[in-house]
Amino acid sequence: MQLERMVLLSLRFLHPSGGPKPVIPAISDYYDPATFERIKNYADKLDTPFLIVDTATVDRQYDELAGAFPYASVYYAVKANPAVEILSLLRDKGSNFDIASTYELDKVLALGVSPDRISFGNTIKKSRDIRYFYDRGVRMFATDAESDLRNIAKAAPGSKVYVRILTEGTQTADWPLSRKFGCQSDMALDLLILARDLGLVPFGVSFHVGSQQRDIGTWDAAIAKVKVIFERLRDEDGITLQMINMGGGFPANYATKTNELATYAEEITRYLHEDFGDELPLIILEPGRSLVSNAGVLVSEVVLISRKSRTGLNRWVYVDVGMFQGLIETLNEAIKFPIWTDRKGELEEVVLAGPTCDSADIMYEDHKYPLPLNLSVEDRLYWFSTGAYTTSYSSVEFNGFPPLKAYYI
Ligand SMILES: *Cc1c(COP(=O)(O)O)cnc(C)c1O
Repeated sequence: MQLERMVLLSLRFLHPSGGPKPVIPAISDYYDPATFERIKNYADKLDTPFLIVDTATVDRQYDELAGAFPYASVYYAVKANPAVEILSLLRDKGSNFDIASTYELDKVLALGVSPDRISFGNTIKKSRDIRYFYDRGVRMFATDAESDLRNIAKAAPGSKVYVRILTEGTQTADWPLSRKFGCQSDMALDLLILARDLGLVPFGVSFHVGSQQRDIGTWDAAIAKVKVIFERLRDEDGITLQMINMGGGFPANYATKTNELATYAEEITRYLHEDFGDELPLIILEPGRSLVSNAGVLVSEVVLISRKSRTGLNRWVYVDVGMFQGLIETLNEAIKFPIWTDRKGELEEVVLAGPTCDSADIMYEDHKYPLPLNLSVEDRLYWFSTGAYTTSYSSVEFNGFPPLKAYYI
């Protein structure tokens, strides 16, 4: 399956004759021209590498999501981009926040967000961190294990808990999140009953179908599992759950195409009504990537271009940003960022690597990006759709390279 996908992808770019010619992505497929011009003008004055995030785009993406799911509450997954500029924008737009650590909590509370707009969504947490959240007023917690649930009952008595279930969909998510977290439905039933017995509020069920999930059908399967849990608890245990947390997984615009968000919304809404009828429970969404990715452009500079032998077929292009300055999602070439240059000319596929002394610091080798043959050292490469999971994933000092700089305009 994985192999098939790779072959198909390569065909799209490498087909020697007849197939589509390799191309540099069109700006207009990713940004409206005025936005890109604003970003580029700002970028022209700065030394690389850095990320520029257009906050107006985040604003628009939030409206688009909220408009597509008018019945849902949005809890922004702070880890995707924890910049104060993004958090305060989303605060002012009425978003809630999905938080994973005491550090994220402090940051969001310091911006004046009230604790009833916060959910502690990490299933892996220390008992004293649960208490820390509780002491600051947070009353909604995720769990997927009995010992964690017992910790919540002790450290956050009377709180609402929701149980995260395992879902299918690792094959079609570009950045899967579904194996490490969640439990089987049977265990979810046990935990929700235990939650009641421990004096907590068995509030609902959550899932995450995997980040950048390209198969909308994975939500159908997950919602069907949730329905069974709702019904069994109601019929057999007299417990009425109130909430479904459908996690993230909504698409950003990368080189590998996805459906439009509107199509996701239409389909998912249909699944919900098929399983839950007209009166839906409280629905929560936890978007990360889909809100901020498309707002960002990461700007890098070519440091070195070489071939590994006199007859080497592929050029190696080394840039001043890599796996350790924000591009870790290229691990296993999972996320394929569109890469743009203003150089024009005949294209040839290259291997793209970062500047550090670690041979893992190669972004794309199997999937070869076409870049102009006249590309030269000091030229800039623009990495599109990089607003999510770049700054927050950047290392602090590997080889002395500082964390990725970011500008919010
Ligand atoms: C990372 C994460 C999200 C965000 O997922 P995206 O695919 O980036 O939208 C949402 N919920 C939880 C619990 C997460 O861990």
